[in-house]
Amino acid sequence: MTGANILVVDDEVETVEMISLLLEGQGYTVTPAYSGTEALEILRQGIQEHTRGGGSLIDLVILDVMIPDVDGYEVCRAIKQDEHLKYIPVIMVTGLGSVEDTTKGLAVGADDYVSKPFRSEELVARVKAMLRVRAMEQELLQYAHELATLNEINKAITSSLDLDQILSQTMRGIRGILHVEAGSLLLLDEDSGLLEFKKILSGSHERMAEFKLKPGEGIAGHVVQDGQPLLVLDAQNDPRFCPRIDEALGFVTRSVLCVPLKVKDKIIGAIEVINKLGGQFDEKDLWLLNYMAGSVAIAIENARLYAELSDFARELEKSQAQLVQAEKLAAMGRLAASIAHEINNPLQAIHNCLHLILRKPLDGEKKSRYLSMAQEEVERLIAIVQRMLEFYRPSREGLAPTDVHTIIENVLALSNKRLQHGKITVTKKLAPDLPTVYAVSDQLKQVFLNIVINAVEAMPQGGELCIETKVSEDGEELSVAFTDTGVGLSEKEQESIFEPFFTTKATGTGLGLSVSYGIIERHGGRIEVQSEPGKGATFTVYLPLNNPALEHV
Ligand code: ADP
Ligand code: MG
Repeated sequence: MTGANILVVDDEVETVEMISLLLEGQGYTVTPAYSGTEALEILRQGIQEHTRGGGSLIDLVILDVMIPDVDGYEVCRAIKQDEHLKYIPVIMVTGLGSVEDTTKGLAVGADDYVSKPFRSEELVARVKAMLRVRAMEQELLQYAHELATLNEINKAITSSLDLDQILSQTMRGIRGILHVEAGSLLLLDEDSGLLEFKKILSGSHERMAEFKLKPGEGIAGHVVQDGQPLLVLDAQNDPRFCPRIDEALGFVTRSVLCVPLKVKDKIIGAIEVINKLGGQFDEKDLWLLNYMAGSVAIAIENARLYAELSDFARELEKSQAQLVQAEKLAAMGRLAASIAHEINNPLQAIHNCLHLILRKPLDGEKKSRYLSMAQEEVERLIAIVQRMLEFYRPSREGLAPTDVHTIIENVLALSNKRLQHGKITVTKKLAPDLPTVYAVSDQLKQVFLNIVINAVEAMPQGGELCIETKVSEDGEELSVAFTDTGVGLSEKEQESIFEPFFTTKATGTGLGLSVSYGIIERHGGRIEVQSEPGKGATFTVYLPLNNPALEHV
């Protein structure tokens, strides 16, 4: 701590002069004071000027005990009780050399003492030791402050999953602990392999963001390539420095401190600060920046993983929706033959009516009867097509109170021809006054249709399908049971039928029941199966009543 400013307080001019000579010879600056009052005035004024941004602080006080007005002990006590002055070390000079004096001095807070007469080497040695302690204390304080700031930044950075927010916070943090002219955070673009300026320290050239560095180009390029921090104090004469950005921006880079951003052994970018203000970069700056880079890198990686995960979740949701749609198509495909019939019959009827009207001389009454028959068939056609479209269209509507019986009628109408062709008779045991359920009706329709088609396919020789609705005894749920007289299922089959792609049919998709299960589950319900091989099967859909708090379906 050369150039330290030492206040020497003594009423004897000769003593002050002697000590001054001694200390100035060691490179210190000396401020003399000849009384206690003067000494305190100088100390306080120093603080005032310093807080106003000027003046130099007193770094140490050499204080004689025997001084006029306020004595040395009082001055020392005043210093140690003052918020701003108490850190200044005080060396007491006692003339008496008595133990009592010394203890009194230490009691008022003196940091050290010498007794008159003292040897000059002794005083210098004590001053040096005191200043060294003081410097260390100050550095520790500074460190503590920086660590606290660093900790704050760390917390802010690692608690965010938003990449941009993390980067902004990082730059703000750098501003807080390093005083530099410019700075930036660069990230490696995995596709292009180029190093991109992702965030610029406020006050730096905004246009910096337009530049990209090739691997190994410039100091940041080197850092990213080698994975080692770099401290370059004379950039202009360093072969690794790349002057093209300076040239484009009209900026002069003098010194650069650059650290890599590393996650495990992967280097994802770098943080670079340029031209330290009021000094030169040192090891401590490097340590601070490196420390920050450690947590920033992890935060960036976390944010990226999170983004990937949300993308994945979105994809999954999308593919699930696609699956539901695909299964609708498949169901339609399975009805296709019967639907062709359903459409062909009215078409044939219309054709016949029109033929009669056009080809045969008919009286007005007959003509209009045929026309209205044709009209009826056209309406039937419209209804069929409407029903198909309704089923096929991806559902846009959300949850609403839904009448299950209406859905059942709809599904039976849709599969009507298929049931007829398959020689299947349908019986219904519908509960009177069945309450509505909170559901997406389109999706329920799809589930019921899947189950009905499965039943039809399980009865290749024809049979019976019974549909029964009920409300559970506790009134908590309703059930729709589909019982067929088909081939039935073994225990083992029952375990697998809800798995996607499980099918025992040559042209089956194995998706019907898994998609159906997904739909019912999202409605807060479940599907159960009861069966014995050769004795038919019952599929029962349970849906909760009084449950409007369902998650989004
Ligand atoms: P897919 O109908 O395309 O085979 P599903 O998921 O709808 O796919 O059905 C899976 C399997 O469950 C069927 O292949 C069949 O073995 C069995 N299954 C479904 N419903 C019945 C039923 N009512 N009777 C007997 N087996 C059935
Ligand atoms: Mg099926």
